[in-house]
Amino acid sequence: MSKPEASKKRIQAIRGMNDLLPGQSALWQYFESQVRLLMQRYGYDEIRTPIVEQTALFARSIGEVTDIVEKEMYTFEDRNGDSLTLRPEGTASCVRAAMEHGLLHNQVQRLWYQGPMFRHERPQKGRYRQFHQVGAEAYGLEGPDIDVELILLTARLWKQLGLSEHVTLELNSLGSSEARAAYRDILVAYFEQHHEVLDDDSRRRLSTNPLRILDSKNPDMAPMLAGAPQLLDHLDDASRDHFERLTAILDSAGIEYRINPRLVRGLDYYSRTVFEWTTTALGSQGTVCAGGRYDALVEQLGGKPTPAVGFAMGIERLILLLETLELVPQDATPPLDVYLLGMDETATRAALLLGERLRDRLPTCRLQVHCGGGSFKSQIKKADKSGARLALLLGEDELAHDLVTLKFLREEREQQRLAQSELVETLESLLATP
Ligand code: ATP
Ligand code: MG
Repeated sequence: MSKPEASKKRIQAIRGMNDLLPGQSALWQYFESQVRLLMQRYGYDEIRTPIVEQTALFARSIGEVTDIVEKEMYTFEDRNGDSLTLRPEGTASCVRAAMEHGLLHNQVQRLWYQGPMFRHERPQKGRYRQFHQVGAEAYGLEGPDIDVELILLTARLWKQLGLSEHVTLELNSLGSSEARAAYRDILVAYFEQHHEVLDDDSRRRLSTNPLRILDSKNPDMAPMLAGAPQLLDHLDDASRDHFERLTAILDSAGIEYRINPRLVRGLDYYSRTVFEWTTTALGSQGTVCAGGRYDALVEQLGGKPTPAVGFAMGIERLILLLETLELVPQDATPPLDVYLLGMDETATRAALLLGERLRDRLPTCRLQVHCGGGSFKSQIKKADKSGARLALLLGEDELAHDLVTLKFLREEREQQRLAQSELVETLESLLATP
């Protein structure tokens, strides 16, 4: 009996989780290589952590009453009954790993990471359930010099990518936890006076996380929020001084910024400096990079008090931005240089070997050997379709006399026959000129 129809149905990817296809990967590689180089230039070391952690790590760091922990995490029980979670962000894992391996003991660390993150959100342009971040974290430094360094590093990346004109830096200070607690009372009192304007979400947050109400995008609440007391007016002296020194260095470095007193972050661990780089070119998913100071987190996770600051950027949004603004570099996908083909099975075997010899001698040459046989005509068609500049042909005659035929696929130029011994030199000089 044949299997039921259902078993033949094609299985598709999970909603909000994307495949990266060959035509797109070159742009990602370009972006990733820019980032890797930049991190090296600033002396940051890469750290790679597992994408699954114990659920408690995120609940304790990001905060129980944040959107992420309340409704966005991919949490499951493994076969031992342990509660595990696909990481929704990178900072918590980074702190966990740094503590676990003694990297924070009386030393400064500058670390960076990249990789997939998982949040069960409503998928839309620039918002996915598996997405990718690049992040950097610095430990053991109170700032604001290191805060500025991280901002300068991101500003340099925008410059390298041609994005400087299209992104804006927003800054705020969340002060010390004491200052925030005092401000929280003032804010709650204000919201209670305007209780009738608050939406359900905000009413719920009033007792759990009132600062997050400031971040609401509900237009009906906008006028009320505009009149709300501002944390910047209630900072403790040390945090105010920290913030003033931060902006002074940014001014002298020529970095433009906008102070946004309502900038709060969706994760509970932040204190003092917070910042976001935003763009207007991506609609409502306009934040491409976000970060700040989290001086209390290491201790909260069981370590010694350690000042810390970092950021994370969303790679999908930056890729979208590069595409939207048509800033994709021409050479992100360099075509093949050489397509090498053998006219029959014997010649194909020789072509595979010749291909290896050429790759030994020409390390930057992009060369593909034709596989799969076929007529001469169909092979030449494939060579042309491959985008290669040159085709190298091996036939019976060529093999008999150690020759090779060189065909120019993109220029009006007579084909040549040359000795295989001359080939490296000829290709070297041809490929040196675009
Ligand atoms: P948003 O307000 O857009 O939801 P967030 O505050 O939740 O962002 P962070 O946790 O600070 O975001 O993550 C840092 C960056 O990672 C964001 O600025 C964004 O560029 C990217 N990012 C966050 N969530 C997603 C997602 N679901 N899909 C794609 N990129 C994301
Ligand atoms: Mg979010």
